[in-house]
Amino acid sequence: MKKKLLIGVFAAAFAFLAFSGAAMAKKQDIPEKNGVYDVPGKPDMKVRVFVHKVKPFFNGETALPVCNDYDSTSVVKSAGWKLPKGTWDYYVNTADAPDLNGGNFKDITVDSFAQWTIGTDLSGRTDFHYVAPTDQTTYKQDFKNIVTWGPVSNSNTIAVTYTWYNRRTKVVVENDTVMNAALNWSWADYLGKGVCGITGFDAQNILTHELGHWVGLNDHYTSAYQHNTMFGYGSPAEVKKDTLTAGDIAGVNKIY
Ligand SMILES: [Zn+2]
Repeated sequence: MKKKLLIGVFAAAFAFLAFSGAAMAKKQDIPEKNGVYDVPGKPDMKVRVFVHKVKPFFNGETALPVCNDYDSTSVVKSAGWKLPKGTWDYYVNTADAPDLNGGNFKDITVDSFAQWTIGTDLSGRTDFHYVAPTDQTTYKQDFKNIVTWGPVSNSNTIAVTYTWYNRRTKVVVENDTVMNAALNWSWADYLGKGVCGITGFDAQNILTHELGHWVGLNDHYTSAYQHNTMFGYGSPAEVKKDTLTAGDIAGVNKIY
């Protein structure tokens, strides 16, 4: 009887330790919620999380036009940091990319990065450089910038970008983008540029927006920004974000 009790006490203590250990591990996870967070053990570093959600419809609103590539002069604000000068290496998870109607996700990524140097002051200053594939399916602060496909917490989250930066120098330390692999994805360019009526989310359209955070731009949610690449919501069949508006370019040029 006594022995049994002792075993019971040990079992309870073990269960408690295991539980609190799991809780502690969970605490170090970065919330999948827009915001700025501390980085455990790295007091000089902060991490900013950008969650790209599916556009909700408020009272009386109708679906935004997703096909026409309207321009916008609304200047996008800085998120508060910049990329270092020189080469910015990145890794891409192509193996876990969904079927993109013939699209190769590495090529799509290269195209998406290119938008941010065409006609902006990043051209000749920061070179985005593809290094190799990665098999990582989520974010990890390891000084390796990745674009990947993986699970996210919410079904209406299209993609999440994590930017680690030095809180004193305001220079980026690392960027990771996770695309929600559970959604229906496509790539409009297989039909020709600007083609309408694709089903699901266009990979280049969404990724070009995410990479805007890599270069230091913020999200905007007001209607003045609805045609900007950096509009904070995404929509199915939307393709207009795969090229920048004048306001997105002006935002970059204010930072660099
Ligand atoms: Zn965003």
